[in-house]
Amino acid sequence: MLKIYNTMTRQKELFKPLEEGRVRIYTCGQTVYDDVHIGNARTYSSWDVVIRYLRYKGYNVFHVQNFTDVGHLTDDADQGEDKIEKRAKEEKINPWELVDKQIQEYWQVIDDLNIQRPNISPRATALIPDMIEIIEILLEKGYAYEVQGNVYYDTTKFKDYGKLAKLKLDEEKARARVDQDPLKKNYFDFALWLNARKGDQMHMMRWNSPWGEGYPGWHLECSVMGMKYLGDTLDIHGGGIDHIPTHHPNEIAQSESVTGKKFVNYWMHAEFITLNSKKMSKSLGNYVTARELINEHGGLIVRMGLVSAHYRSAVDWNPDVIENAKNNVAKIRNCLNLITQSQGGRENTLEGEIKLVREDFEKALDDDFNNPKALAAIYEFIKKINSSLDNKKEILLKARETLLELLGIFGLDFTKKEENADIKLNELMDIIIEIRDKARKDKNYEISDKIRNKLRETGIIIEDGPEGTRWEKLM
Ligand code: AMP
Ligand code: ZN
Repeated sequence: MLKIYNTMTRQKELFKPLEEGRVRIYTCGQTVYDDVHIGNARTYSSWDVVIRYLRYKGYNVFHVQNFTDVGHLTDDADQGEDKIEKRAKEEKINPWELVDKQIQEYWQVIDDLNIQRPNISPRATALIPDMIEIIEILLEKGYAYEVQGNVYYDTTKFKDYGKLAKLKLDEEKARARVDQDPLKKNYFDFALWLNARKGDQMHMMRWNSPWGEGYPGWHLECSVMGMKYLGDTLDIHGGGIDHIPTHHPNEIAQSESVTGKKFVNYWMHAEFITLNSKKMSKSLGNYVTARELINEHGGLIVRMGLVSAHYRSAVDWNPDVIENAKNNVAKIRNCLNLITQSQGGRENTLEGEIKLVREDFEKALDDDFNNPKALAAIYEFIKKINSSLDNKKEILLKARETLLELLGIFGLDFTKKEENADIKLNELMDIIIEIRDKARKDKNYEISDKIRNKLRETGIIIEDGPEGTRWEKLM
């Protein structure tokens, strides 16, 4: 029986999807102006474990995740610049080009971390007609108002606005900022549509609308995509904890005013990764990219680091996280190697352990996805395997299969060849080539030829050319 902590009720609740056997899940995706940082990657890895586990339990899961490629402003109060346009200007490129580049890099990171791709990943800009349609409904129903080509959602019209965030509306208002958007009627109101003209500046990404040329407000895309691809009510909606105060209350207000139905049954929020105890964020420039870490340690080790803690506990990213991940990956590989090398014996003591590890693993993940507990069950199992190599070979192989299956739910794929081997080989080859170059410079051809011949025996071919020495590993 799976239980999920629902932010709306602040309680763990028994999970029951709307339609038996099917789960509709939406997760807030990347604002594609910068690289995926390790905080984003942890949130996406957390949803990946949720989805893989639901699939393991036999659900047919349909997952939608957006790409924000317009409308996310640098300031939450609808005042700042568009993050994409700002960065494109800085890099002196077209915003569409920036978005395209970032999306390609995004997929490479997602694939390297072995995060399953969503069933659909729509771009906000692909749904402008749908957004305009929803704004028209909100205007018609009296939930929105237009001022000078901007359209705002009127939060005073929606009963329970801010319930998810447990916003104490009066207290918040008392802290109101002075640089509020002067066109808004109420403090919490937010933009659904923004006029493309701001002073003498024109927003580059703009579309025709009944309110003139403009572009959508950031919160709208998630409501529109959720309703379009998943229906009026979603089973699960996920995002980082930063979305609790504003983005998600706004999504609820928009969607529920249109449909008159509950928008989401289970709200899940992932805690943040911090760096030296400070929020890791692109806008603060305080972050480590997923790409740097993958290049340095390989996707498997980074992924292990990302899934080792509970998704609702904050993680401070320090060298210990990678160190522990390395040790755990090595421990698993060692066990898999021991199984391969073992001739097997006559014992069958592992049968019971195979059953037990699955039970403990499921119990842990059923309890609001307690990854550390589920991993602890796996490490316990590994200890048992290591001391039971005298079991029949077929049982050892069954233990191996179980291990690989359960690790697979964390997105830890131990069936692929060791990625790190390539990284280490690169480093090693740099050293060997440097030594050989030195030998050639010193005209010590005996050494340089010996290195070349020995490498050939191991399947590595060396070629000397005008641009230096190249090497290639034969398959
Ligand atoms: P963004 O590209 O900033 O819109 O963020 C994409 C996703 O990553 C959202 O679900 C955010 O809530 C999440 N996120 C942003 N920063 C962090 C962080 N430091 N730790 C964990 N998740 C984060
Ligand atoms: Zn969203």
